[in-house]
Amino acid sequence: LIELDRAHLVHPVASYRGHEAQGVRVLASAKGATVTDAYGRQLIDGFAGLWCVNAGYGHESIVAAATRQMRELPYATAYFGLGSEPAIRLAAELAERAPGDLSHIYFTLGGSDAVDSTVRFIRYYWNARGKPQRDQFISIEQGYHGSSTVGAGLTALPVFHDGFGIPFDWQHKIPSPYPYRNPAGDDPQAIIAASLAALRAKVEAIGADRVAAFYAEPIQGSGGVIVPPNGWLKAMRDLCRELDILFVADEVITGFGRTGPLFACSQEEVVPDFMTTAKGLTSGYVPMGAVFMADHVYQVIAEGAGASAIGHGYTYSAHPVSAAVALEVLKLYENGLLENGVKAGARLMAGLEALKDHPLVGDVRGRGMLAAIELVTDKTARTPLPAEAQPARRIFDRAWENGLVIRAFANGVIGYAPPLCCTDADIDAILERTAKTLDQTLE
Ligand code: PMP
Repeated sequence: LIELDRAHLVHPVASYRGHEAQGVRVLASAKGATVTDAYGRQLIDGFAGLWCVNAGYGHESIVAAATRQMRELPYATAYFGLGSEPAIRLAAELAERAPGDLSHIYFTLGGSDAVDSTVRFIRYYWNARGKPQRDQFISIEQGYHGSSTVGAGLTALPVFHDGFGIPFDWQHKIPSPYPYRNPAGDDPQAIIAASLAALRAKVEAIGADRVAAFYAEPIQGSGGVIVPPNGWLKAMRDLCRELDILFVADEVITGFGRTGPLFACSQEEVVPDFMTTAKGLTSGYVPMGAVFMADHVYQVIAEGAGASAIGHGYTYSAHPVSAAVALEVLKLYENGLLENGVKAGARLMAGLEALKDHPLVGDVRGRGMLAAIELVTDKTARTPLPAEAQPARRIFDRAWENGLVIRAFANGVIGYAPPLCCTDADIDAILERTAKTLDQTLE
């Protein structure tokens, strides 16, 4: 498999040389929060695949829902006004649970195309309101909104831009509210004030009647699990309302129990104009994303389109098998999984806090089952680990040897997003194996 993989399977995101040298790591099976590789080695999946297997592995009821749907109706297009029962029921169930009036759902295949879809719907919206000049978009440094070309331009990680001619000139960024490394200091109110001032200044610089929308993750995931101060999301949302800019909450990671409830926006009492989700929606068993649209936005778009069609759609949008899986996953969340996630998340956070005295651990942060530790060489100066030592690759490899899958970010941040089904023993194993990995990193 390693040889076939080297010869034929393209892994753009893996460090090319590192991947060539190491060879692919093949996973063979999984159950609960434990994955087993092709050599039979068992590891705790501290990252739920790619922040997505929220329900954990091996749920027979999900398998049954998928096979039942495949047998009955494996495919129905959402084009030409056609549809299928599971997709319609799923839209209704999601609308019922969504924050505020986010009651119109457009299904995609994942997060990147969910983000792309919002860009298109937002342009339709402003055109329908007679303001086609509102075509400028703002997002946040260290944000991640996908790797399709439009989404990657909203993403603010340079590796996704290099060589692609993006971001486009209509895609702008403001600084991240990164509490551990914020020029405004550690005070939450000062951090919120700095973000508000930055958004105001950016809008003024672009032109008040030019800005279409502002994108924010409730917690920045791929940028290194950056948790803004409490109240930040609401403050940004309120400013967007004041400036008549649409507010998009990208909940692709934070949605579906990752931070506790189904949506982080609900936790923060924020009702965005759009919300993008994916990952936990189907818990990674099959691909699917969903764009939630506020009623007042949808009405403008629908009336603006009038008798004509909106030219946007994917062959696999509203896929019946994905929808059947999502309906089953939703039941699992509400029959104990969300609750277990909150309990396990508290244990994880307490255990990570206890690592704060470790000489390498500069910062511990997170909410629910989404957490990170940031490693530094000097705690007072908050000096990042030297990039040339490739800390991410070394830490990831060591953790793997210790039976733990984590996400090591290039800047020395270790990210955790375990399945919500973790037992106390799973969480304790994650913590013990982390401590062992850190001690080895010191050597
Ligand atoms: N938005 C956010 C916040 C994400 O974290 C991701 C994926 N990590 C995406 C969008 C893109 O989702 P996908 O990889 O499913 O296209």
